Amino acid sequence: MGELRVAVIGSGPAGVYAAGALLDAGQPVSVDIFDALPAPFGLVRYGVAPDHPKIKSVSEKLAEILAAPQARFFGHVAYGTDLTAADLRRHYHAVIHAVGSANERELGIPGEELAGSFAAADFVAWYNGHPHAADQRFLAAPEVAVVGAGNVALDVARMLVTSADALVATDLPAGVLQAWRGNQATDVHLLARRGPAHAKFTTPELRELARLDGVDLVVDPADLELDPASAQILEHDRVAARNVTVLRDWVARPRTGAPRRVHLRFWTRPTRIVGNGRVAGVQVERTTLDGTGRLAGTGATEQLAAQAVFRAIGYAGRPLPGLPFDQTSSVVPNEAGRVTGPDQTGVYVAGWIKRGPTGVIGTNKSDAAETVRTLLADAPKLTSPPEPDPAAVLATLERAGGRYLQWDEWLRVDDHETREGARHGRPRVKVCTVQEMLDIGGVRAPDG
Ligand SMILES: Cc1cc2nc3c(=O)[nH]c(=O)nc-3n(C[C@H](O)[C@H](O)[C@H](O)COP(=O)(O)OP(=O)(O)OC[C@H]3O[C@@H](n4cnc5c(N)ncnc54)[C@H](O)[C@@H]3O)c2cc1C
Repeated sequence: MGELRVAVIGSGPAGVYAAGALLDAGQPVSVDIFDALPAPFGLVRYGVAPDHPKIKSVSEKLAEILAAPQARFFGHVAYGTDLTAADLRRHYHAVIHAVGSANERELGIPGEELAGSFAAADFVAWYNGHPHAADQRFLAAPEVAVVGAGNVALDVARMLVTSADALVATDLPAGVLQAWRGNQATDVHLLARRGPAHAKFTTPELRELARLDGVDLVVDPADLELDPASAQILEHDRVAARNVTVLRDWVARPRTGAPRRVHLRFWTRPTRIVGNGRVAGVQVERTTLDGTGRLAGTGATEQLAAQAVFRAIGYAGRPLPGLPFDQTSSVVPNEAGRVTGPDQTGVYVAGWIKRGPTGVIGTNKSDAAETVRTLLADAPKLTSPPEPDPAAVLATLERAGGRYLQWDEWLRVDDHETREGARHGRPRVKVCTVQEMLDIGGVRAPDG
């Protein structure tokens, strides 16, 4: 075999790390990376909270891979519409799908459809300037319930009580920053259906809550009296033990009369969102573990005043055209990254769509490396594509008729954003529409 031609679908961490692992493999290989959005970096740009600039700076490392001579980036090219499985088979020996898991899971309780009941994913996309996100008046509620016990729930709670002034130093889009000046949130109730020992928060993210100006943290000391099973968890789970230590420290602190509060409520699950057309409250039930360790309601309920509810209980993948999909785990079934099922020769997955929506950015590096090892082991058996010429891909994209953006064109957008940032004393001012990104990138219209 001559040069191995690989397509990567998705330029989030998993896709880019997969491209990097291929380029580092010491074999003749070239990689084309496609993303449905004009901008690269997936959730690093559109998920990680703006007040985490150090984490967002991972994009600089990802950019080095995308700028490599053997890599090409094509933004605003969606697999399934602009590019089909048949196109990929024509041009590449193999394809790695690294499309992430964009859907937010639902609570499945009455009232979820009311105005003011939001998916955290939509809020996160909006405050990160995702081109498909809409302002749903996320910041209009004084009292807010955030359902979930992971880092995304913490991000949402923390952002809701962070002042606009504190966000000037972030890449929060200009229009969002403006909206933040009218943020009404005073009380955010973080609802965790299990106890503090079971929460999925990581400790640095939990600690961050205590560093916010103008915010008191409210924890019920009774929630920190651990039952024997929870106490046992702390013996072998160091993160859980550290989290409980942090929470105990907060219980001991007196309230300062700060204008905003985060109430951490454990053993509490929402059973109904109430309101007439719009969220007015959340009915919650106290929970416990039954004799078998399963979560059970105690029947003790109360109604919490809340004018908005954010569900942050996890993400789910979407089926991809031409690929099998496991509805239960919402991933593409695979063995070490090799997609299983009929007609899947040369088809691989990496990242969240491979293993589910868990882990930090770095987890995707080892995950992608595993997929690339599998692919390279299969390489001698892969079918040679009939049109491997890199120029033939461009002809296919031209035929599809959409406007796509290549790396140099993305760099123009990136440069524009940082220059606008400098003009306003901010790290970056994001361009938030597809049209503007294509225009600033200087992408010509298909017939232009
Ligand atoms: C709200 C939130 C905050 C987070 N914060 C942190 C944090 O602070 N620190 C940390 O370490 N981790 C954080 N994570 C986790 C981290 O973002 C993920 O581990 C990582 O982004 C998953 O990588 P991925 O490449 O699988 O998916 P993604 O990052 O989602 O990338 C998938 C890419 O595929 C593209 N795509 C989707 N469908 C198609 C298609 N049909 N055709 C072409 N392209 C397509 C998407 O546009 C996207 O660019 C956070 C996650 C979320 C949701």
